[in-house]
Amino acid sequence: MNIVKSKRDLRSLVAGWKANSEELGVVMTMGALHEGHLALVEAACKDNDRVLATIFVNPRQFDNKADLETYPIDTNEDLRKLKAAGVDAVYLPQVEEIYPEGYSTTVSVAAMQDCLCGATRPGHMDGVTTVVSKLLIQIGPDRAYYGQKDFQQYLLIQRVARDLDLQVDVIGVPTIREGDNLALSSRNRRLDEAQRKIAPTLFKVESTIADLIIQGEAADHVLEWGRKFIHDAGFDKIDYLEIRSEEYLTLMGENSSREELLGSRVFVAAWLGNTRLIDNLSISR
Ligand code: AMP
Repeated sequence: MNIVKSKRDLRSLVAGWKANSEELGVVMTMGALHEGHLALVEAACKDNDRVLATIFVNPRQFDNKADLETYPIDTNEDLRKLKAAGVDAVYLPQVEEIYPEGYSTTVSVAAMQDCLCGATRPGHMDGVTTVVSKLLIQIGPDRAYYGQKDFQQYLLIQRVARDLDLQVDVIGVPTIREGDNLALSSRNRRLDEAQRKIAPTLFKVESTIADLIIQGEAADHVLEWGRKFIHDAGFDKIDYLEIRSEEYLTLMGENSSREELLGSRVFVAAWLGNTRLIDNLSISR
């Protein structure tokens, strides 16, 4: 497995693959890899001749300094996992390689930003779309894989690729979960034993809401129940619990038709102590 740290080495590696007409898939990560990341790698290995993973803890997408400072880093273990998963190369840039002195450009999507994590984490989505655009331009992959766990992020990246004519297929991979349905996340490592027991409540609430909507219950009513249930389970704060459309994240409520609701998703973000967990679930499973 090749490890490249500079744009120059990255370009010459990819140029060699392109010269052989090999198709390239990319998986972008911030490290601290788990089975969720490896599901993206697996999907990429199936569809492409070559797979490149990136590990870059992007400072611009952290709206909270403490979150950045305590973000788990385990590069050797990550490299071992990526090699075992069949990745051909890993791009491991330093911050200066991505944002050299004087760097001043932001890629910002005007739509689908004023809600969910876009609203509750100021600057976060611009940080994501900026770094993803840079990496897509630097790498030039045929396909790029993102987790549906970060559904808003996935939609925004798809929008960027279309709007900027980046010739890449943006592919969404379903969320990988623990046995008790907690969505895998690098931040789960921060949960203590008691918090870890409470964490799967988010999935429980989402799936109950989905079932109740399918049975014909009103959206506002079930969301109110869900918020109370999450609080009572021991979560310290709820950033959002909402139902939104899968295409443009349109908010659903009492005026939404049954057809609209059945094509939607439940989205949740809530805090256990200093750890913020997010999840989402399709209503029409
Ligand atoms: P991160 O390292 O957290 O920035 O995540 C890198 C990529 O892995 C993103 O596309 C995430 O959506 C995806 N990802 C993270 N957790 C999961 C999961 N549990 N299931 C599927 N994909 C995930």
